[in-house]
Amino acid sequence: MAGGPRFAPFAGERVALVGLGRAGLPAALRLRDWGAEVTVWDDRAEARAAAEAAGLALRDVSSGPFPADALLLSPGIPHAMPSPHPAAERARDAGVPILCDVEYLFRAVRAAGSGAAFVGITGTNGKSTTTALVHHLLRGAGRVAEVGGNLGPAALGLKMLGSDGVYTLEMSSYMLERIATVVFNLGVMLNLSPDHLDRHGSMAGYAAAKARIFAGQRPEDLAVLGQDDPMTAAMAPAVTARLVPISGRRRVAGGIWAEGMSLRDEAGEIADLRAAPALPGAHNAQNAAAAAAVAFGLGLTRAQVAAGLAGFPGLAHRQEGVGSLGGVAFVNDSKATNVDSAARALGSYDRVVWIAGGMGKEGGIEGLAPFFPRIARAFLIGRDAAAFAQTLAEAGVPHEVAGTLEAAVPAAAAAALGGAAPVVLLSPAAASFDQFTGFDARGDRFRALVRAMIAGAAGSPGGKAA
Ligand code: ADP
Repeated sequence: MAGGPRFAPFAGERVALVGLGRAGLPAALRLRDWGAEVTVWDDRAEARAAAEAAGLALRDVSSGPFPADALLLSPGIPHAMPSPHPAAERARDAGVPILCDVEYLFRAVRAAGSGAAFVGITGTNGKSTTTALVHHLLRGAGRVAEVGGNLGPAALGLKMLGSDGVYTLEMSSYMLERIATVVFNLGVMLNLSPDHLDRHGSMAGYAAAKARIFAGQRPEDLAVLGQDDPMTAAMAPAVTARLVPISGRRRVAGGIWAEGMSLRDEAGEIADLRAAPALPGAHNAQNAAAAAAVAFGLGLTRAQVAAGLAGFPGLAHRQEGVGSLGGVAFVNDSKATNVDSAARALGSYDRVVWIAGGMGKEGGIEGLAPFFPRIARAFLIGRDAAAFAQTLAEAGVPHEVAGTLEAAVPAAAAAALGGAAPVVLLSPAAASFDQFTGFDARGDRFRALVRAMIAGAAGSPGGKAA
């Protein structure tokens, strides 16, 4: 393009960007490159200093008349519930749209004349797994593809793709509320359960945000819709694209589903999910069905889908196998910060030694009672260890308060190696912030402790690592 006219799809547009997190700074620089007049702001002085050092103009848009044509608001900052950021209030008062970075990526790609496919994936649970899986299937089939969104990297950090390319984007409900012209060629809505109601006010508001994954779709587009919960299934009448129903549990006519661990459509078996070790459980069968629906929609063959599912490495911290010792598998499910997610993991194994605890959610772990018979022994950590212990004591589940992961890992390993169960599962059913900077730091620590223990066993006489 040397010597050609500069690509400036946003020339003359004034964008006020608020929230200079991981995504904010690169987004501002890219938009400026693309011709926009960008000002940036963050309530943290260090973030402002970094932006200024990168040559960006600072502007606090929290008071006075709104000075731009759009507000690009970081997904972590609320524009409505529980209480709107003042910048969002100003924008709203001025009738200025509040957008996310996916809106700008979409507009730039289309302005460049590219027909690259946009795949948008949402739902309460399984977004990251399904997003990563779709991208993995595409890459395995040799397709030009980029992946990002909520899962990261941020949309405006992705490469520009031509018409043969595919963007697979994880879309949180907050991001879906901040798109205007985006039409997903393939939209995926996995499931809905009460979550983030603090940000949406009601289940109806949350469902309405999620339904935007199908907004503006044309008949030639694809709408992949989960059938395993009633609220998601009830979205079907509003779909304007070709509908592909999916289920992780039962046959859905004309769709893609799993029966046991067999992934199928009307033409027969697509893949045996027992050959896909990173996708255990019916919840992952739903994710696999969704990913297969997208892959077929983009022209992949059955063989490419089957091979891709089998080779999927999985995502860190989501039932991630981190090693095994003496026939005991160690599984890191640190991402399970609530009872719902921990239930999926506990339901995937017949018998486990369980490590749990941290900052519990309302109701503690009572909701996990149906899975208590699978727990051979529990080791509890973190702030709410005593409360969790009480619930387990009342149910007669053997348990100990270990306090920390450092204490829990060797104790759990000893119990499992002593024959209690073939799996040690960290699936905390609690947030991590009492002891860690986040679920990822908690999972990283667990993995490191397990690996050190396995390495130590391999080095010791009689030790055997696998
Ligand atoms: P998200 O990105 O939507 O938070 P992830 O793919 O990171 O979802 O999975 C988070 C956790 O949610 C997993 O560890 C698992 O326990 C649970 N989960 C994954 N997929 C599903 C699904 N399709 N239905 C219900 N729960 C799921």
